[in-house]
Amino acid sequence: MTNRDLPHQAPSGSVWLPYSQMAHAPAPPVVDSTEGVFINLQDGRQLVDGIASWWSACHGYNHPHICDAVETQLRRLPHVMLAGLTHEPVTQLAERLGAVLPGDLRHCFFSESGSVAVEVAMKMAVQYWMNHGQSGRYRFLSFRYGYHGDTTGAMSVCDPEKGMHAQFSGFLPQQLVVDLPEDAAGIDALSELMRAHRHELAGVILEPLLQAAGGLKMHSPATLAAIAGLCREHDLLLILDEIATGFGRCGSFFASEQADVTADIVTLGKALTGGMLPLAATVATSKVFAAFKGGPEKALMHGPTFCGHALGCAAALASLDLFASEPRLEQVAAIAAQLQRELEPCRQLAGVVDVRVLGATGVVQLQGKPPVAELQQRFVELGVWIRPFGDVVYLMPAFTIRPAELRQLTKAICQVVGEWSQGRAPDGTS
Ligand SMILES: *Cc1c(COP(=O)(O)O)cnc(C)c1O
Repeated sequence: MTNRDLPHQAPSGSVWLPYSQMAHAPAPPVVDSTEGVFINLQDGRQLVDGIASWWSACHGYNHPHICDAVETQLRRLPHVMLAGLTHEPVTQLAERLGAVLPGDLRHCFFSESGSVAVEVAMKMAVQYWMNHGQSGRYRFLSFRYGYHGDTTGAMSVCDPEKGMHAQFSGFLPQQLVVDLPEDAAGIDALSELMRAHRHELAGVILEPLLQAAGGLKMHSPATLAAIAGLCREHDLLLILDEIATGFGRCGSFFASEQADVTADIVTLGKALTGGMLPLAATVATSKVFAAFKGGPEKALMHGPTFCGHALGCAAALASLDLFASEPRLEQVAAIAAQLQRELEPCRQLAGVVDVRVLGATGVVQLQGKPPVAELQQRFVELGVWIRPFGDVVYLMPAFTIRPAELRQLTKAICQVVGEWSQGRAPDGTS
């Protein structure tokens, strides 16, 4: 019998999986279909999804309203290039996003992934200063535990040590990556740093309230407000990356609303289409937009092939309909309360460092380097889809999840973290 005949052996590698060691990864479960909060596997098993496909499927999978909108759009106009042409879905989406975003963020540049939206935001910030005759402002200030995407510019503003791109440091532009300020002294230090580097900085980029893929760290609205205030004081562009936090995840429609701050540029993605299609946006205020008016050299020099993809726009419009017609933020509040209640007992377990909840995000942080692949496998055995990374086990479910389904998820976490806690080595290395 060759390795190939063994069940659950490494996938052949024809599909090169994201963030996966292809040499000895067990073959992942094959998904046959999705529905609501369920992932149906080809072998007949059904998993309750705790992470909504990287936090994107906020209305659950296959929501009929989004499916219908996409189907109708598909037959009429799936995609047409946006250079020199335009169409209804993209115009409508830009207007509706402008109406729901705080402040006067109303100039939307559409791309197809969050990383690209971040690239566009960075390029926009750099060119903003160029267009104002200030050259040499090429660097960004960002924060430890931040994550902004996998492309080169986006990687450069991620946490350079704790993030997933440490080995690329020599390849990346060197940014100023600093700790989030925790008190008045921290805010003063950050202010000093901004003052010292102002001439070379294009802007500051931050995930408001919840630093997601960099470790699921949370900070207060006051911290966010303080950083926004410093950006104003030092005349730096503030880019808020709401790709993970936008569309209700943190309990308000956009996380920045809780601090009553408006960014100069906001990036959106993930749940923008309710997880149905790849679409992202970089949205600028009129102050930023105005800097790009003038001669041809002042135009924003960016244009992805699938810019303003009509199908994606139709899905995003349908998703916005659902936020307007269904009680999503109330659902998020109920999820937050249940997560708080049902994950809190984990705090008593040896090796659990922290339990924290913000909106529809619940996190159990473990000590050391937990065996995340093994934990994930245990979750699948228990009929739930939960994918721990780094030192965190977390839930970011669809907002439409029912209390009993959420209970299944929190119960599985208490059980699996409990097993890990009992079995781990006394030094905490597990
Ligand atoms: C996921 C994410 C990105 C990158 O989006 P992709 O669509 O995966 O390229 C950027 N910023 C934040 C905050 C994210 O959570």
